[in-house]
Amino acid sequence: MTSKKYQIKGACPQCGCTDVTVLSAEEMKKKYGDVPNIELDCSACTAKYDSEMKTACPEWDKDCKLEG
Ligand SMILES: [Zn+2]
Repeated sequence: MTSKKYQIKGACPQCGCTDVTVLSAEEMKKKYGDVPNIELDCSACTAKYDSEMKTACPEWDKDCKLEG
């Protein structure tokens, strides 16, 4: 397996700050699997918000389906 990294990008609806989380494919699988929507935490104001996987991390959205 490759050690490809995935960037999850979120934009907080409360304060507007953007967050980037970098996870390996293994971590992505463990944490999110192939869910269409994910929950993110804002590091600035600690708000929780939902984001679509295809928006937050289009690469994973594509790859997780290929991996089945
Ligand atoms: Zn925020």
